[in-house]
Amino acid sequence: MRGKAAIIGAGIAGLAAARALALRGWDVEVCESAPGLPKTGTFLGMWPEALKALDAIDVGEQVRQSGSSLGASADTGLRTPAGRTLLSVPGGKNLVMVSRPRLLEILADGVNVTFDSEATATEGFSDADAIIGADGTFSKTRTSMFGASSGPRSLGVVAWRGTATGAVSSHGETWAPGAMFGLTPAGPDATNWYACLKAGGRFEPPHLQHLRDLFGSWRTGPAEVLRLVEESEILHHELFDMPKIPSYFNGRVALVGDAAHSMGPFLGRGACEALIDGVTLGRCLGEATSVEDGLAAYDSARRAKTQRLISMSRIMGQTAMMPHGFQGRNAVLGAAGSVMRAAGAVRQTLWH
Ligand SMILES: Cc1cc2nc3c(=O)[nH]c(=O)nc-3n(C[C@H](O)[C@H](O)[C@H](O)COP(=O)(O)OP(=O)(O)OC[C@H]3O[C@@H](n4cnc5c(N)ncnc54)[C@H](O)[C@@H]3O)c2cc1C
Repeated sequence: MRGKAAIIGAGIAGLAAARALALRGWDVEVCESAPGLPKTGTFLGMWPEALKALDAIDVGEQVRQSGSSLGASADTGLRTPAGRTLLSVPGGKNLVMVSRPRLLEILADGVNVTFDSEATATEGFSDADAIIGADGTFSKTRTSMFGASSGPRSLGVVAWRGTATGAVSSHGETWAPGAMFGLTPAGPDATNWYACLKAGGRFEPPHLQHLRDLFGSWRTGPAEVLRLVEESEILHHELFDMPKIPSYFNGRVALVGDAAHSMGPFLGRGACEALIDGVTLGRCLGEATSVEDGLAAYDSARRAKTQRLISMSRIMGQTAMMPHGFQGRNAVLGAAGSVMRAAGAVRQTLWH
């Protein structure tokens, strides 16, 4: 079927849905509260399934060309702060690292977005056949459908992240009790980094000296990258995930991306799933004979899978930063490494 869609939010999920619907002949309008697309941001890893979704909306090749394949990095792995390798991980040839601003720019090309336009209620879109809430973790669309108890829960963890100019000698993640630090390449001469710490709330800037105090003595790369980092480029967030909601749609209103299933960043999957949601929603509405059937098909294709990822990501974060019993975890990891590698599971869980 064809119709008119109003999309709330021009993030990854909203723009992917807009493209997917427009490709199927829908008339699409996107409203975005920000004044424009972001100019800065870090790198996101696009897994093969997300690349397939990008191909389905005709931008896969552009993203591959704008990003860089992780490649077979010479020294990649999972380590302890003392430098002991728990697992050696082969580079992810199939994973494309792309900067968030560039990805959004590609997705937004040709899409009808009205910036500086904050949606306050879904009732405002009286002429739309379908309303898509793509308004992120603090989604008002979700609250209007499922109440305040559907809102995000703090994970008790804060994150810092950024992209530094310059390369470092090793990539991968370092796990410590209550903290972790990760490094990936971001092109030939740049490094994507992220750090997490169990903490009760956000820290006030400046951050760089604090990060050096926390991670500078780790013998696995943080000190190296923190020498390249500029204070002004550090992003700092408190991390949240969401309780499972009973449906991703109600009547003609649907939720996509973080609005539906905000998850911790420990699997590096939020943006990928947001893309897949948008593309799946477009396909389901395009193939259905009624909006309700299309949204029901979308819910059934996406809800169980993405809600499982919320739990898996939470477990992954707890495992990475476990305060006690990590010697046992390290031994299990060492023993299980070859089996997990064979299953391809390590790459799926390590890279952000
Ligand atoms: C520290 C951290 C690291 C991460 N790293 C990765 C990673 O490496 N790989 C990965 O796949 N994912 C990663 N993620 C997750 C990823 O960033 C998100 O899952 C993804 O951005 C979700 O996209 P979205 O479009 O659903 O939401 P958002 O990106 O939040 O977009 C929502 C949009 O809606 C707009 N909006 C909100 N309210 C309104 C309103 N009322 N009216 C109009 N517009 C509105 C907002 O301005 C925004 O533009 C990370 C997340 C964090 C916090």
